[in-house]
Amino acid sequence: MSMNIAIDGPAGAGKSTIAKSLARKLGFVYVDTGAMYRAMACYFLQNGIAAEDEQSVSGACGEAVVTIAYENGEQQVFLNGENVSGLIRTEEVSHTTSKISVYPAVRKQLVELQQKLASDTDVIMDGRDIGTCVLPNAQVKIFLTASSAVRAKRRYDELLARGESCELNEIEQDIIERDERDMSREVSPLKQADDAVFVDTSYMSVEQVVETLLSIYEEKCCK
Ligand code: C5P
Repeated sequence: MSMNIAIDGPAGAGKSTIAKSLARKLGFVYVDTGAMYRAMACYFLQNGIAAEDEQSVSGACGEAVVTIAYENGEQQVFLNGENVSGLIRTEEVSHTTSKISVYPAVRKQLVELQQKLASDTDVIMDGRDIGTCVLPNAQVKIFLTASSAVRAKRRYDELLARGESCELNEIEQDIIERDERDMSREVSPLKQADDAVFVDTSYMSVEQVVETLLSIYEEKCCK
């Protein structure tokens, strides 16, 4: 049986940085499920299908085949065979992704892919509904969060480092809006699983968070 670690939490909590580092230390495969939803959103943007139009989005889902592969240990995401990893991190894609990920048809398609990946591989999977819905039997579940101000500042620094101009206030507002939508949707809302460990990273360094998660893993799986 494969070993599964589920990490859920809101945008900008540091899930991917932490999960990647932990995966390296444990020799697990890191699966970024947000990238899959983002790739799907690209399809609707590229084809002029409005994110608000549930019927059209649901009807066209099957035309968007999302797959992942690993290059030098980094997850790459493909949309109908094209590597879209370089296209999915814009604010426009973030915005569209949070809108289309509320639709059951979109979720069904991607959850099936995620469950298949985790069934025969040791994975650390991050997202919003991994512990509650995708991998309810994961051996370790973590709910990672931080205050919206801290998360916005992290995102702001990231964008600045990439040379993109941005406003801190706007980023925080966008994060709050996305959290609200992710937490209040009917299907698989963002929420802590009953058996997940809550970790607030607001005042922790990346190293401290990784160490904390490693000890949770050891406590649960190595005793
Ligand atoms: O994690 P990331 O910020 O890349 O996710 C982008 C969006 O994808 C989230 O805001 C959320 O709406 C959606 N998502 C989701 N379920 C997941 C992962 C991401 O609904 N498991």
